[in-house]
Amino acid sequence: MRETKFIFITGGVLSSLGKGMAAASLGTLLKARGLSVTIQKLDPYINIDPGTMNPTQHGEVFVTDDGAETDLDLGHYERYLGTALSQKNNYTSGSIYYSVITKERRGDYLGGTVQVIPHITDEIKLAICGLAENKTDVAIVEIGGTVGDIESQPFLEAIRQLRGDLGKDRCLFIHLTLVPYLAAAGEHKTKPTQHSVKELRSIGIHPDIILCRCESQVSMELKRKIAHFCDVDEDAVFSSVDVDSVYKLPLEFYKEGLDQKVAIMLRLPARNADLSAWEHLVSVLSKPRDSVTIGIVGKYVSLKEAYKSLHEALVHGGIANEAKVDLQYINSEEVTPETEARVLAGLDGILVPGGFGERGVAGKICTVRYARENKIPFFGICLGLQCAVIEFARNVLGLGGADSEEFAVDAEHKVIYLMTEWFDYHKNARVRRDKDSDKGGTMRLGAYPCLIREGSLAFAAYGSKAISERHRHRYEVNNKYRDALEAGGLVLSGLSPDGDLVEMIELSDHPWFLGCQFHPEFKSTPMNPHPLFRDFVRAALKNGRGRQDRDFAEPVSSKADLSS
Ligand code: GLN
Repeated sequence: MRETKFIFITGGVLSSLGKGMAAASLGTLLKARGLSVTIQKLDPYINIDPGTMNPTQHGEVFVTDDGAETDLDLGHYERYLGTALSQKNNYTSGSIYYSVITKERRGDYLGGTVQVIPHITDEIKLAICGLAENKTDVAIVEIGGTVGDIESQPFLEAIRQLRGDLGKDRCLFIHLTLVPYLAAAGEHKTKPTQHSVKELRSIGIHPDIILCRCESQVSMELKRKIAHFCDVDEDAVFSSVDVDSVYKLPLEFYKEGLDQKVAIMLRLPARNADLSAWEHLVSVLSKPRDSVTIGIVGKYVSLKEAYKSLHEALVHGGIANEAKVDLQYINSEEVTPETEARVLAGLDGILVPGGFGERGVAGKICTVRYARENKIPFFGICLGLQCAVIEFARNVLGLGGADSEEFAVDAEHKVIYLMTEWFDYHKNARVRRDKDSDKGGTMRLGAYPCLIREGSLAFAAYGSKAISERHRHRYEVNNKYRDALEAGGLVLSGLSPDGDLVEMIELSDHPWFLGCQFHPEFKSTPMNPHPLFRDFVRAALKNGRGRQDRDFAEPVSSKADLSS
């Protein structure tokens, strides 16, 4: 039986230093050394999970196969490690307190006073040690927030205790701090790092490795200074430099020897990391053979993090076609019949992403019509599929009152509706029940199978009939309208195995027009670009080349044909 080793990553000075990226990149290196690696995120906030948070505040909600609504850092972990994670990989203060309070109500602590130490900290340790179960060599645990935050204290106390419980050989502390470059002084500054480490040590955690987030490499001299002031080995101070592509970070860490130092300190088997696949990836990213402009027409455009996985999946689609993908985020509220030609001009492909609530939906429906009529490659995801169905019903079938029950409870034609009876029948479906779940407010979550129709765009992409994808939505295509939609020319190319749920739609008289009820972006990785994103980007490239032909009336035969 293997003994799992733990690496704890804390952050100091300020947030957004890239702890998630650092954890994922270190995990990548250790995996490339032949180790089995998992990563966990511990979030200090009180929400039980980010499922109820606004994406423009918190960023995307990442969904796992087992239906957990998790922090977007899990998306980074999955994309880098190439392995599916689960509910066990993300806990919050809220979820920890919830299980302690549930136990208290059940009488598990009868007679005792329930306290932060030991009850909350024990629950945190249980959550961390839960990673050790399945033959994992290394578990990387990222503590959200910044050292000094009130909320993160129980987590820091728990990992401090674990070092004592498990021993020095099985626990390693990495602290990520900021080393700013002061242009006026012409030098990097170490004081914030010194203060941050002091704060960490005041709660009993002595970092083994310090990772310095910096614009450019920190000099040896400065590393020595940090080592001296923070009491770590001289060769245990590393730079985490700004990179133009996040996929370069594992290679940067490797150049500095981070994985080597970690392996020595944790007594992991000595073996060199095989990074050839990552080197190839970075070389493709650095020398694209073509470029394409894709518009994402959504309503959470004020915070790019709200579409994190989508953004990455489109980059992956570009990698598969050796093309650079320029992404334009367009606020759907700005798209109207009067503005559409201007706002959507110059896009080679259009994507309407998922979303909740009515705001911006009119613009999304307008966008779908524009893409359909102008034969621009179109990809609709979740709400994007629902908008495409509404648009088709209104403008092709002539059902003026077509809408979704989400926005118009009394709509004449609820082509998208709450399928309460489906949830009643599938009692074991993975769902999150809302407070008004008796009214059918139930979210379909996690992986569900889907069967694809042969000869469709979907089949051409996946190359197989049976697939599984992740869901996060309440509403479905109304089966009452299926015959009419099909008779009008909409292809229902993906259905649930029992045939009850429409999972994919497409048009056959269009270069590439596809909608899916699930979120394929959650399963795309740079090493394995998702087939739908690959084909969408390919169609957009073809469209872009055609557009150039039209604009300049000159052949582009000299350009590499990436469509094959
Ligand atoms: N709001 C829609 C629903 O709940 C779509 C959700 C989504 O796009 N993820 O069904």
